[in-house]
Amino acid sequence: MSKHPSGLEKLPRGIDLLHDPALNKGTAFTASERKALELEGLLPPLISTQQQQVQHIMNNVRRKPNNLEKYLYLIGLQDRNEQLFYKTLIEHLEELSPIVYTPTVGLACQEYSRVFRRPRGIFITKHHHGHIRSILRNWPYKDVRIIVVTDGERILGLGDLGSNGMGIPVGKLTLYTACAGITPNACLPVMIDVGTGNKGLWSDPEYIGLPEERLHGKEYDALMDEFMEAASKTFPHVMIQLEDFGNRNALRLLERYRNHYCMFDDDIQGTAGVALAGLYSALSVTGGKITDQQLLFLGAGEAALGIGNLVVSSMVDQGLSEDEALGRCWFVDSKGLVVGSRTDLAQHKRRFAHDFPFHRDLFSAVNAIKPTAIIGASGQPGAFTPEILQAVAKWNKHPIVFALSNPTSQSECTAQDAYHYTNGHAVFASGSPFPPVVVHGRQFVPGQANNVYVFPGVGLGVMASESTRVTDEMFSAAARCVADKVIREDLELGRIFPSLSRIREVSLHIAIAVARLVFARQLTAMKQPSDLPGFIKSRMYSPVYQTDPRVKTEAE
Ligand code: NAD
Repeated sequence: MSKHPSGLEKLPRGIDLLHDPALNKGTAFTASERKALELEGLLPPLISTQQQQVQHIMNNVRRKPNNLEKYLYLIGLQDRNEQLFYKTLIEHLEELSPIVYTPTVGLACQEYSRVFRRPRGIFITKHHHGHIRSILRNWPYKDVRIIVVTDGERILGLGDLGSNGMGIPVGKLTLYTACAGITPNACLPVMIDVGTGNKGLWSDPEYIGLPEERLHGKEYDALMDEFMEAASKTFPHVMIQLEDFGNRNALRLLERYRNHYCMFDDDIQGTAGVALAGLYSALSVTGGKITDQQLLFLGAGEAALGIGNLVVSSMVDQGLSEDEALGRCWFVDSKGLVVGSRTDLAQHKRRFAHDFPFHRDLFSAVNAIKPTAIIGASGQPGAFTPEILQAVAKWNKHPIVFALSNPTSQSECTAQDAYHYTNGHAVFASGSPFPPVVVHGRQFVPGQANNVYVFPGVGLGVMASESTRVTDEMFSAAARCVADKVIREDLELGRIFPSLSRIREVSLHIAIAVARLVFARQLTAMKQPSDLPGFIKSRMYSPVYQTDPRVKTEAE
């Protein structure tokens, strides 16, 4: 590296170097670096290796009294020494991802105004309408490849947090870097602050956002349209990920932009990808093909419909007609089974409204349809009752039970219940983690259908191939790749997702598949590299310290 990672020609020295998070190595600057770079005396005598620093950071993290303190400590490290932050995170991902992302990031968002120290990302408000492009140009890094954007309306399960929701794009992009090696400078978190419906925030004098009514309708759309265009023009190869938008906007914005920009919605498509991965992986236990399944979803919102739509396109890819594939996906919403005779169905549910008798409750729908899999994305804790679990176990040797609602307290059933009421035969996955359980003397480690298995790899593939679009086909391919990486040891434990410790391998596998699709579908102006896997691997950021090039030059 002879240029600054930001693209600046001049590399800092002395105190400016120690204050530069991309280049700072703290006590790991060697004696010759200290001499050459005007650092002597600015650091204590100790010279550490990066590995010793990682251990030191973990000791400190583990000494913190609670998860929010751990989060703040790690964010402080990210602001101070980016390479050490990522090396620590990658090496301890299973322990630290619940700190830098869910569930702790939810707590951090609730406290964001109070814990806010240093800005990271761009805040665009409704008052910036008409000059969003000039605001994006204020961002110091010019080769942005991934933007995660939210308007803060539906942060995790916490509702409308307005600008406090900025913790989500920041956390998601941290995972892009840790899990798929996207260079930190290529990542831009964006908050579109259009006000908030959370009136409690209006009266909070410390609230960092706009204490105003939330914008809706045409003005909202005009602001979003301007943002999408400005971001795509300012950063020509950028992929934009929509995150935690409210129900009334998420599906709508996805349809509005998916054929015009390189973008996707993680709550819809990322969730669908990881759930489909879970289904593919479950089939290695249950036997049979995806095209043989009867899926019954509880909930017909963003997550469930996103999964249903992706399952249908995968079944069609595997030989079913669209009508046959639709006929294998059933939905129960808050009013009952989604069927053709209902007159209260929103347009996006009608695709799945079958000509079938109406059933008001899940139990009777389950008995009428006899699904091979029940998939909960309804936010209704306990909705998969013992009777329902026993019923699906009656006609399936291995019923597939996915209780995807978050957090754990909202889960449609617990891991314990899923295994207990099916005599240990269920293939279970949940949205939030459950600890291992022992049922009939056998230990099960429940899998977590975490979107992190999918979006970083898709992002890496899109970035490396300079794709102009993100397609559903990429999420189907990603689902297969995740399932490919589940090994026998995982399945023996009842875990249908790979261990998080192997996430970079999973992401690379996805990225190669996604990039192959990009070239096959001619979604890029780039020429396909002869060694695509090698090329993608070479694009992955590694947070291992390198000797400062000026030391070699000056020593010569
Ligand atoms: P949503 O609000 O869009 O959808 C919720 C759906 O549940 C609606 O269709 C609603 O009609 C239905 N519902 C509500 N009460 C019901 C009842 N009593 N019986 C049947 N259906 C009922 O929300 P969403 O974005 O689709 O998220 C749903 C859940 O899925 C959330 O808990 C979310 O945390 C979870 N989720 C999990 C993952 C994951 O595991 N990776 C990803 C995204 C969302």
